[in-house]
Amino acid sequence: MRRIKIFDTTLRDGEQSPGVALSPDEKVAIAKQLARLGVDVIEAGFPIASPGDFAAVRRIAEEVEGPTIAALARTAKADIERAAEAIEPAARRRIHTFIATSPVHMEKKLRMTPDEVVEKAVWAVKFARGFVDDVEFSAEDAGRSDPDFLVRIFGEAIAAGATTINIPDTVGYQVPWKFAELVGYIIENTPGADGVDWSVHTHDDLGMAVVNSLAAVRAGATQVECTINGIGERAGNASLEEVVMALYTRRDFFEAETGVNTRELYRTSQLVSRLTGMVVPPNKAIVGRNAFAHESGIHQDGVLKARETYEIMNAEIVGREAAVMVLGKHSGRHAFKKALAELGYEIGDEELKPLFARFKEIADRKKQVTTEDLIALVEDERTRAPEMFKLLDLQVHSGLALTPVATVKVKTPDDEVTEAATGDGPVDAVYKAISRAVGLSPTLERYRIEATTGGTEALGEVMVRLRQGSVVVTGRGIAPDIVESSARAYLDALNKLVSGVGAREAIEAP
Ligand SMILES: [Zn+2]
Repeated sequence: MRRIKIFDTTLRDGEQSPGVALSPDEKVAIAKQLARLGVDVIEAGFPIASPGDFAAVRRIAEEVEGPTIAALARTAKADIERAAEAIEPAARRRIHTFIATSPVHMEKKLRMTPDEVVEKAVWAVKFARGFVDDVEFSAEDAGRSDPDFLVRIFGEAIAAGATTINIPDTVGYQVPWKFAELVGYIIENTPGADGVDWSVHTHDDLGMAVVNSLAAVRAGATQVECTINGIGERAGNASLEEVVMALYTRRDFFEAETGVNTRELYRTSQLVSRLTGMVVPPNKAIVGRNAFAHESGIHQDGVLKARETYEIMNAEIVGREAAVMVLGKHSGRHAFKKALAELGYEIGDEELKPLFARFKEIADRKKQVTTEDLIALVEDERTRAPEMFKLLDLQVHSGLALTPVATVKVKTPDDEVTEAATGDGPVDAVYKAISRAVGLSPTLERYRIEATTGGTEALGEVMVRLRQGSVVVTGRGIAPDIVESSARAYLDALNKLVSGVGAREAIEAP
């Protein structure tokens, strides 16, 4: 069995998904879950891009144990220095530097000759090696580059000290047969190829990100760069859970394995979906709601007789059917803590107090509190911004023949403010009243509501995205009442806005 390294770039390329903006706390929460999942490398961000990006990478380097922490840098001095500084506290750290190598990128974007590009790459790898022993070099747009030029620049990068060489199909142009040929050719012809890891990084513009990565593994690649739920620029990256489960389920064919604990896949997917606001389609492989559901009578009959009739893998192996735990209003602190521990959450006494208080509040209003509710509750509590504004009370009048009216009472840093407003619907009225109370009126870019479980009793989880100028933030709120969830989500986003979380500027990256 060959060991394939999983390089997760959810926090870097995934975060470049249009509309996604994660706060440092949210990034740390995802990174910790990625460590639990057992990925080999976490690409934590692009430190030069913004102070927020730098801060998030730095915190991940400080707080997340296990995987190598990587930071992205162009082949520029300031980029590499900033990346090195950000990952400095990590036990295992990697600088990932890149430059474009396709004719169109070299001529039109970089305005450099191929010789100049090689020189710059060599300089950057050497400079990065001055800070860390583990340096990855990427040839951006390798998928449209001349194979012999790649062989040349990779050979030089290896000689300069690169320890991983990445072949990205930045624009998602490749097809599996050609990509395998390219990867095989490069590995075979590059001087020093035996001493390094060979990585691929694929995009899904033609729906072939996963299969291109798998084809590359067959051709000798030893590392795959991917993201949870396949999120990323444009159509996204190769989906980590699909790559991992394809290698696992067809290990007879690939003769390769990863270090991923597949039982953590589903929870990781849910967490990333919740925090990024990127919904997982129901028919998405491995982690979609329907991925293990059998609808046809013939299939159901078969599965009841023998699961393998229609199942190529068990739902349990990707962590989907963890024992359903149900807590209620009579559950005590001990049972609550135990349930969380079984879900993998280590909760200290300090964290337990507010969590348990919220749990009791919910349990009083809802008969059963399920696993999904608990996960939503913990993630909600852990990623909440400091509460400058706090919801104290909320009243809504609405009906078919009534203009909805909302009254809110909000605690602000220096006062308690009560405001009322009318709106097109109850949520609109609440948002207008809150806006007045706090004196902020950002644009509401997105509003999404989801039930944590089935049934009318489920908790309503609301995600909103607000924009003010160039700052985009997302807020979340959960409660048994959807108007309350909506108010909580809006205030959470406002709290993030005033604390300045979530600002981002776009910079091109592989
Ligand atoms: Zn990419």
